[in-house]
Amino acid sequence: MMLKDVDRIFTNIYGLESAMLKGSKKRGDWNGTKKLLGLGRDKIIDIIKESGLRGRGGAGFSTGMKWSFMPQEVGDRPHYLIINADEGEPGTCKDREIMRHEPMKLIEGALVAAFAIGAHVAYCYVRGEFYRETKVLQSAVDEAYAAGLIGDNACKSGFKFDFYIHRGMGSYICGEESALIESLEGKKGQPRLKPPFPANVGVFGCPTTVNNVESIAVVPTIIRRGQEWFSGIGKPNNAGTKLFNISGHVNSPCTVEEEMGIPLRELIDKHAGGVRGGWKNLKAIIPGGASVPLLTKKQAEYATMDFDSLRELRSGLGTAAVMVMDNSTDILRAITRLSAFYKHESCGQCTPCREGTGWLWRVMERICNGDATAEEIDMLEEVTKQIEGHTICALGDAAAWPIQGLLRAFRPELESRVKKPSTAEAA
Ligand code: SF4
Repeated sequence: MMLKDVDRIFTNIYGLESAMLKGSKKRGDWNGTKKLLGLGRDKIIDIIKESGLRGRGGAGFSTGMKWSFMPQEVGDRPHYLIINADEGEPGTCKDREIMRHEPMKLIEGALVAAFAIGAHVAYCYVRGEFYRETKVLQSAVDEAYAAGLIGDNACKSGFKFDFYIHRGMGSYICGEESALIESLEGKKGQPRLKPPFPANVGVFGCPTTVNNVESIAVVPTIIRRGQEWFSGIGKPNNAGTKLFNISGHVNSPCTVEEEMGIPLRELIDKHAGGVRGGWKNLKAIIPGGASVPLLTKKQAEYATMDFDSLRELRSGLGTAAVMVMDNSTDILRAITRLSAFYKHESCGQCTPCREGTGWLWRVMERICNGDATAEEIDMLEEVTKQIEGHTICALGDAAAWPIQGLLRAFRPELESRVKKPSTAEAA
């Protein structure tokens, strides 16, 4: 099973052609956009719902369903579309490829999505470090304005649409939608308690939809080619194409568009040149960005890359950032590094996360260095459970899950690293 070239949405993901208007029009962007808008709000939302598109930012919630949560009528509060381009999940590098090589797909998708939810303004919140990507995206936005594709009369449809780029300051937590909204409002980027949800009270207190870059960029193609085409790719409830990032101990790390539900081993062998030293040299794989539990070699053997089957393996598709680790990896050290990341990125609002992420990191360090005792392994597990599900946002879970995955699969490695009690202590 491999995605056919004719079914690829991102045909310039490697930047071999121009990212700008002339090149993108040749690839089919902005083709009959006015007609797409002519379908009307309800029809567009229905098509996206029926296509089975699930959010590509990690949570995997139905994009069409999310749009339908916005108020039917625009009242005295304007509606807003926010595009989450704060791609900060370790291992993930798909949205940046869209921004620098396929920016017109994103802008056209934003126009269609904004129209569908009754918004005349879209904010694209770009991770601060993506300076070059922002420059390309801004040039594309300028070109789209100059060509009348967006602006007061977008694509001559009579619909007014403005697209603003906002650069973040490089904080991971601003990728969480309510923290992103706070940051966009000029405040400290800290997640909000929900409810109220953004569709009711979002940016500036107005109804807002927040969508990932990839989710928005695929919208025009889905509508042009039809919902049946998209839902016919992949698996039931896990439809369509997806950008995968393959990094770590593979022969050719890459970003590739593939069918949802592709077997993990096939994905790595066909597109990344296989595991360094062969499949037998594989130790573990993180299949969906740093926050999902790792898969053992045995699990990776039969895992397929979609939301539901990876959840059944107690892992997740997340952002589809596949990180491969071969037998040379010190798996404890690797997960400890992730713990340090989450400790650093915790916004500090809730106690289990603020204290717990630091606690996890310090114990992991102690185990790595051979300074911990055997009881601390159980305590480590207990603390992950105390954090999981007890915090305002998902960062707490994201810090807990990689360690839980490690304990499930590599407990003997942890046990071999703890201090052996002296004879007197044992007695
Ligand atoms: Fe902040 Fe962590 Fe609480 Fe999220 S879970 S709100 S990052 S302290």
